[in-house]
Amino acid sequence: MVVRSANQIRREFIEFFEGKGHTVVPSAPVVPIDDPTLMFTNAGMNQFKDVFLGTGSRSYRRAVDTQKCIRVSGKHNDLEEVGRDTYHHTFFEMLGNWSFGDYFKREAIAWAWELLTGVWGLPKDRLYATVFAGDAKEGLEPDEEAAKRWTEVTDIDPLHVQRFSKKDNFWEMGATGPCGPCSEIHIDLTPDGSGGTLVNAGDARVIEIWNLVFIQFNRDESGRLTPLSAKHVDTGMGFERIVRVLQHKASNYDSDVFAPLTKRIAELTGKTYTGELGEGGEVDNAFRVVADHVRMLTFSIADGAKPSNDGRGYVLRRILRRAARFCRQHLGQHEPVIYKLVPTLVETMGATFPELKEHADRVAKLIREEEESFGKTLDRGIALFEQAAGRGKLIAGADAFKLYDTYGFPVDLTQRMAEERGMAVDVAGFDRCMHEARERARAAAKQHVTVAVDGELPATDDSLKHEGRIADAKIAGWVRGNTFVTTGMLEVTDEELALILDRTCFYAEQGGQVGDSGTITTATGTFVVDTTQKLGDGIIHIGKMTDGRIEVGQPATLEVDADRDLTRKNHTATHLMHWVLRTVLGEHVKQHGSVVDAERLRFDFDHHAPVTDEEIGEVERLVNEKICADLEVRTQELPIDEAKEVPGVRAFFGDKYGDRVRVVSIGEDFSVEFCGGTHLSRTGEVGFFKIVAEEGIAKGVRRMTAVTGPRAVAVVQQLERTAKQAAGLLRTGVEQLPERVAGLQEEIKKLRKQLQKGAVADIHSVRQKLLEDAERINGHAIIVGQLPDVPVEQIREAADWLRTQAGSAALCLGSASEGKPMLVAAVTDDLVKKGIKAGDLIKHVVPAIDGRGGGKPTLAQAGGNKAEGVPDALAAAAEWLRQKLAS
Ligand code: ATP
Ligand code: MG
Repeated sequence: MVVRSANQIRREFIEFFEGKGHTVVPSAPVVPIDDPTLMFTNAGMNQFKDVFLGTGSRSYRRAVDTQKCIRVSGKHNDLEEVGRDTYHHTFFEMLGNWSFGDYFKREAIAWAWELLTGVWGLPKDRLYATVFAGDAKEGLEPDEEAAKRWTEVTDIDPLHVQRFSKKDNFWEMGATGPCGPCSEIHIDLTPDGSGGTLVNAGDARVIEIWNLVFIQFNRDESGRLTPLSAKHVDTGMGFERIVRVLQHKASNYDSDVFAPLTKRIAELTGKTYTGELGEGGEVDNAFRVVADHVRMLTFSIADGAKPSNDGRGYVLRRILRRAARFCRQHLGQHEPVIYKLVPTLVETMGATFPELKEHADRVAKLIREEEESFGKTLDRGIALFEQAAGRGKLIAGADAFKLYDTYGFPVDLTQRMAEERGMAVDVAGFDRCMHEARERARAAAKQHVTVAVDGELPATDDSLKHEGRIADAKIAGWVRGNTFVTTGMLEVTDEELALILDRTCFYAEQGGQVGDSGTITTATGTFVVDTTQKLGDGIIHIGKMTDGRIEVGQPATLEVDADRDLTRKNHTATHLMHWVLRTVLGEHVKQHGSVVDAERLRFDFDHHAPVTDEEIGEVERLVNEKICADLEVRTQELPIDEAKEVPGVRAFFGDKYGDRVRVVSIGEDFSVEFCGGTHLSRTGEVGFFKIVAEEGIAKGVRRMTAVTGPRAVAVVQQLERTAKQAAGLLRTGVEQLPERVAGLQEEIKKLRKQLQKGAVADIHSVRQKLLEDAERINGHAIIVGQLPDVPVEQIREAADWLRTQAGSAALCLGSASEGKPMLVAAVTDDLVKKGIKAGDLIKHVVPAIDGRGGGKPTLAQAGGNKAEGVPDALAAAAEWLRQKLAS
């Protein structure tokens, strides 16, 4: 039997469709160049989106390719599966054949079958085809055409054509865009061919290999489907999966796509790969994760991505750290090792993807640096995690935060590590710590800036601040020790200084918006700006010299940090929210102050009552509606008198205005405010708005905190994760969560009642028995006994009851509730007169339970620390009473 190599299989796929009149097209970069809706290319169709939408065209109508794909974010995220199963990767190749308004279902199905069963000889009785069963909610008919073609143009067993719902058989790239019903081909890998019922069941023995998508619709922003004028075919076959099938391997990782990598990992670490899954397979899992992640990292870095602290770069960083952690924890590696796999990968794939060869050194260097910096803190972090995990079932929020803050563990990494041990993380607690830390940092950042100057500063032209983040200017001088210095040069020092330029694009803190941070560079040096403030008419850039030297008069390049773009989103969103609050809560909503920075927006306003959840929901809905409407944001500079006449205008509370003011208006007759801040040019750029807190800060003043853009997305994802975690713990779906919790509460209530009833019934029979068994001396009853584990009130009640029932009596009852011993003594009045006192009795016996107590002559009680001493105490009580009554 000839076994084809991976490279041969890829080639045969391409050649097969070339033979059917398809043009061979190269893979698009896995980091999309100009599609802001997508973090990574996640399917073959991404590069042809414009053709499907009719906004672009190609010189060919049939194409064939292999597309580099990454699925670790957005709608398609397989990270959870990677390593745990054998056929989901973060990075994989998708082989595809394409028809742009040319052939349709008949040919697509016939050729797929011909390639799989004819050219490659896959057994027909092991193949299953699925077709779309229709969807009433979306008004979509079942795909009868595809079903018919399968039986018409192939010799597939008609029983092997199965129908599935939208979830499985309707393909969409993302929330919007071209989409349509699909027909998938699955292969049964069970030893005995009994997998017919396991199609789409998430069972590793029957897996999807090829998806034929029939692109017929476009989904728009509102979720509506509109038919496309031309119909297209978009197919995607998982390369690593078909290779594994054709090479008769039990796992993708055993095929020659991955084997060189797992082999190299074994060489480097001295560990062995045995392919074990699940529990006990931690080392093997680490092999798979590392082999997988290095591919994702190498391909994405070669295509221009870079590990960083936000967006796409943050995804890379997380993947890298995840791989690095597995290397430490399970492969015993304490030095960088992932980068050493890059040459192996380049060797196996460089011929097909020359960009790997071209960037090999750069990629390895970058990975190595990341590993080094992460490695420094990782060991200590893992040790801290172990400690935290030893403290209970739940990793405390403060521990998760420390791991994040000090050791750079993203919270989802901590969550994964916790999950691996069947634990969870207190995410709400983590969020609280995070919030507090931000507040502290902010307060600290505020403190460092009190610059004073003797005399006056020259006015700085700051008109550039609304233009963009980069500008040129000239160094005018700096403030040092209260003096404005205009000669000489600045060298690197630890001292905080205020740099002054003739003009600036940095925004000085004002109207609630934070001052910008960024860098100012000249030909000879760099000054890093922490914040920017106004001092008189001058704008001062507060920060430190970090490199070289700067001279007065030098031309400089100014660059405000990209954070500013997030601040702009938050500022425009603040205006939207202000206006919406007036609609939802009433015209009395007046601004009391606001803080706008890159993290969030905070808005204080007059309102007499807490804002209800429904109102918050309505505010969110309306603000997002304004964002979706993509309204224009306009700014005008006007003389103050004229500005006051602008219909609907609102002035910021507490701001002082000059002769000329800036008026910011959004949409037609929506929001109009006096504001000097930096704004977006359209509301659509806010992206997404989410309120995260509402609280009272003074009588009649509420504070609302909200986030926008990527941060808002992260907040919602966090909420979802928490909900899913809770649902997971309760073994139910998120939707059923409230119902399930209410059910559990009900159950707990019932059980409590039952327990109480049981205990009371017990007590009743025990006290009855004690009464019947009472010892009598000279007509006086002595009752001594132990009661079941019940609250102390029940014991006292029993003592009372016995005292009244027994006539003349002295008694001592003991019990231990939750390990705490308890004694109650009671004596009837006639015996008290004879000098037998409950308090004395208790004092006499209490040492046995290592406790303290006392009370009245008729009733006394004691608690203690030694539950096992109760029988001794009771025996002592009986003895004491016998003596007293006998005398
Ligand atoms: P699955 O249900 O197995 O996750 P899918 O429905 O997400 O697959 P499609 O979006 O239809 O897959 O992608 C087309 C093909 O790409 C699939 O038939 C499969 O062979 C392959 N594929 C999808 N996701 C992955 C992945 N994470 N790793 C490797 N191959 C994949
Ligand atoms: Mg999938």
